[in-house]
Amino acid sequence: MNLKDLKEKPYEKDPENGMRQSYGAMIVKIGLGAMFLISAITTNWAEQAPDAPLAPMLLSVVFGLAFLAWGILPWWNAKRRIAAAEARKQADAAAAEQARLNAPKRCPNCGAATKGDKCEYCGSPLP
Ligand SMILES: [Zn+2]
Repeated sequence: MNLKDLKEKPYEKDPENGMRQSYGAMIVKIGLGAMFLISAITTNWAEQAPDAPLAPMLLSVVFGLAFLAWGILPWWNAKRRIAAAEARKQADAAAAEQARLNAPKRCPNCGAATKGDKCEYCGSPLP
């Protein structure tokens, strides 16, 4: 499917990639999320916050996951929307082909009422 189709939607902030964010913003958000998660794991929180080491660690994990979701979800939604539009297009094409094969025709060779690609009675190709 063409990304131009997504340009019609007014809520798209970045029509070039179909996402509601630019690739640059996506990279920054995912990078920040990864930094928060890495610091949550690698920091010695017992040393940093002796009275309550778990709170800043959990906060760092929450911030990391939030940044990751903020960066990844628009990309994932755009991907799903493009796939859905593609599936709709294929279903429409299949329905149109089925309608074409089922449409009643008159055989130019034998004059019988028939349908499909070939006459059901004499086998000559139909227009
Ligand atoms: Zn025929």
